Amino acid sequence: MDEHVIHTYKRAPEVFVSGRGATLVDRDGKEHIDFLAGIAVSALGHAYPPLIEAVSDQVERVVHLSNLLRHPYTEAVATRVAEATGLEASFFTNSGTEANEAALKLARKVQKDRGKGHRVAFVALHAAFHGRSMGALSCTHAEKYRKPFGPLFPVTFVPQDDVDALARALRETEPAAFLCEPIQGEGGVRELSAEFMQAARQLCDETGTVLVHDEIQCGTGRTGRFLASQWHDVQPDVVTLAKPIAGGLPMGMMTVRKEFAEVLQPGDHGSTFAGGPLVCRAALVLLDALRDGLLDDVQARGRQLRDGLCALQARHAAIREVRGRGLMLGLRLERGAADVHQELHRLGLLTSLTAGDVIRIVPPYVITAREIERGLELLDRGLATSN
Ligand code: PLP
Repeated sequence: MDEHVIHTYKRAPEVFVSGRGATLVDRDGKEHIDFLAGIAVSALGHAYPPLIEAVSDQVERVVHLSNLLRHPYTEAVATRVAEATGLEASFFTNSGTEANEAALKLARKVQKDRGKGHRVAFVALHAAFHGRSMGALSCTHAEKYRKPFGPLFPVTFVPQDDVDALARALRETEPAAFLCEPIQGEGGVRELSAEFMQAARQLCDETGTVLVHDEIQCGTGRTGRFLASQWHDVQPDVVTLAKPIAGGLPMGMMTVRKEFAEVLQPGDHGSTFAGGPLVCRAALVLLDALRDGLLDDVQARGRQLRDGLCALQARHAAIREVRGRGLMLGLRLERGAADVHQELHRLGLLTSLTAGDVIRIVPPYVITAREIERGLELLDRGLATSN
């Protein structure tokens, strides 16, 4: 299988052919409940009628133009994201990694423009995941991702929620930026504390450090607010978004505060594909849905799911902790997480295993109460393998 594909992923054996809502169907006709959503991407589920309509309509008009020519939707998406985040201006990318790469470049230029050209390093957190291009990889903590590719950028990693360690790193290393995920995804669905998030904001102000929130996984509505940081009333200087923003089409964004809107000038950065009419039409479908009540659905379904997971915790000793917020949840297991993950897959429940011991649950925002009930039943059965 996959003879001519480079094996950077261990893929499941089934071949998936269609889906509807939060249910996927494989080639043998078996239905799978989708608690994975293409790794926190398919917010609108599968075959969402308004997305089909918008994308089909746009394919019939024009798919690609380049950033040298205008279409009506880039500005429309950027305006809506500015309204939703309270930030000012966006640069469009095709992925999360590229959005972070743009943020690293922006932060260095901010410092250069201030006459602080020596501020080229970065500070990030233990267990951080920001992507795998050279800059983003430098800020990703796991040694297994970094080791084959050094030397990387100078980055100091500090433990999550350790305000003193962060203060020391910012004062001693004078970085261009501090990057953090308000809820770490690949790091095991770990939410940073409100106190740490607020202290980080204050420390970045005091030390002239650019504060970058990577909300590629936890943002764009996944927790029931547009940004996860909005639960703690913290506004970053820069936020990076991707995964669900275009309902499954590839799109990322770096969105910056007003003072940084003019930092990148023509030629400083670019992308052939990014912000094209097709992905922007798709993004508007998602942004419309969030505006029209989907955030409330995320909160309601998130409560249902969390209550169900807590009930499972009472029945299965292997569950050490229920983690996360909204529809970004994790079950940290005492033992056997890999076996449980495999058994869930066999039973027809798609999840992912992250940080070695966490079953990550990031379903589509449009998941129904019934699909959640069914998923919880399958979790109950799958967890029996760990008892
Ligand atoms: N940042 C975070 C928090 C992520 O979860 C991911 C992907 O998992 C990335 C960055 C990289 O995004 P992409 O795979 O779209 O390049």
